[in-house]
Amino acid sequence: MSRGAPKGVAVAPNLSKSKVMAYRQCPKRLWLEVHRPELREDSAGAQKLFKAGNRVGEVARRLYDRRGTGSLIDVSAEGYAGALERTKELLSRNGPIFEAGFSAAGVLAFADVLVRRRRAGSPAWHAIEVKSSSKVKPQHEEDLAVQAFAMRKAGLVPGGFAIAHVDTKWTYRGHEDYRGLLKEVDLTAGTKKRMKEVPQWVAGAAGVASARKEPAIGMGAHCAKPYACPFNGHCAESEPKTTYPVAWLPNVRTKALKAFIADARVRDVRQVPDDLLNERQLRVKQQTVLGRPFLDARAAAAVKADFRPARFLDFESVMFAVPIWPGTRPFQQILFQFSLHTVRPDGEVAHEEFLDLSGAEPSRPLAEALIRACGEKGTIYVYSASFEVTRIRELAARYRDLARPLKAILARIKDLRPVAENHYYHPAQQGSWSLKAVAPTVAPELDYDNLDGVADGGAAGEAYMEAIASGTTAARKADIERQLRMYCGRDTEALVLFWRRIKGD
Ligand code: SF4
Repeated sequence: MSRGAPKGVAVAPNLSKSKVMAYRQCPKRLWLEVHRPELREDSAGAQKLFKAGNRVGEVARRLYDRRGTGSLIDVSAEGYAGALERTKELLSRNGPIFEAGFSAAGVLAFADVLVRRRRAGSPAWHAIEVKSSSKVKPQHEEDLAVQAFAMRKAGLVPGGFAIAHVDTKWTYRGHEDYRGLLKEVDLTAGTKKRMKEVPQWVAGAAGVASARKEPAIGMGAHCAKPYACPFNGHCAESEPKTTYPVAWLPNVRTKALKAFIADARVRDVRQVPDDLLNERQLRVKQQTVLGRPFLDARAAAAVKADFRPARFLDFESVMFAVPIWPGTRPFQQILFQFSLHTVRPDGEVAHEEFLDLSGAEPSRPLAEALIRACGEKGTIYVYSASFEVTRIRELAARYRDLARPLKAILARIKDLRPVAENHYYHPAQQGSWSLKAVAPTVAPELDYDNLDGVADGGAAGEAYMEAIASGTTAARKADIERQLRMYCGRDTEALVLFWRRIKGD
């Protein structure tokens, strides 16, 4: 797992592997990490990834040390010099080493796992980097190449290099038995090949790190790939401002439009010729410039023939890199909450919901509650149906005795998102048809910014994890429960109001 300097530990003598990788993403990112670390803002998504990485790392140490003969080097406690010294000492023994440190030729790198394996008849150290991702990614080979370079320059030539990533096809059987969670992929050949490029990367990174001035690099696709850059906020402030940003145009896919926008001078939608835009993009441009909302009559027709009562459904889910419930897989979306608003034919609105914070696996109780709440009549409206449809299908496949009523629910689902995308737009959406962008344009009180605490799906999953954790106090759990109920209820309330708006009620 990648790491920077631990807090309270003297600054590393060489550039860490994560700094070299930051340089590979963007030289300005490296410069900011070295000179302006206080500007770093890790998104909630990034923090979630760190936590998942730590948990996978813990399990990996157990999996690669089944005899319990391994040693973990803790740079926070031992300091850089101590960690490097102890690595040398442990390399003369045979047990697995976790976080072995190597510092040479301008780079400092810590190996997640070093294990002795036989290769061509004789034992050799093998380096394995543990990743919480579900597959090998192009940047993993670069990461290993930097690792390999530091090791080789420090005097160790490992026999092989691999990535161990989470296997999403594996199912947890319980009893803390995580054999099979990680899938090891040998990248020895690719790592050795890429290692030749490392001296150039290290020299480039060292030059940027020692520069006095922030590199003049504009924002672009590199800010999100391969990782969401934590300096987005800082860099966005210095980007040229425009009243109607071209980034508001949705689904820019055609070659001609992409090429036109890639021209650095094109920043405003007004600069884009109409004939390069599809119907939806043109609507965004026109309504944005006019400053007026758009709702066409076909919207009402799209929901006119639907069945009553009208029901509005939304789910919240959680996923674990390391599953906690038997029968579940890594990164499986597990539903723990739903909100269902029902508008009866007389206009009366009822609300039902399900939320299980007991810590027991919530899937089956949720499926049963969903069947009861949805009844047998009425269209069930959702927003971006693929999520709800996939989750209900999974429940039907898992609980065969509930398959028939769950499939009956599936047959009644109708997606309001295409209706919104094709027939509704408000300039305040700024090119987005997410429910969070649409809702406040229908009713200002539906603004998700005024929610206390949980205000998006990712935060809902995080709050759920906190609520079921053993150390969470009853008071905190009660507060999380209140926030989750408010948030999920807000989604279906927004659907009701949007549906009424397009019907002209
Ligand atoms: S936000 Fe983009 S331009 Fe700024 S440092 Fe990060 S990657 Fe570089």
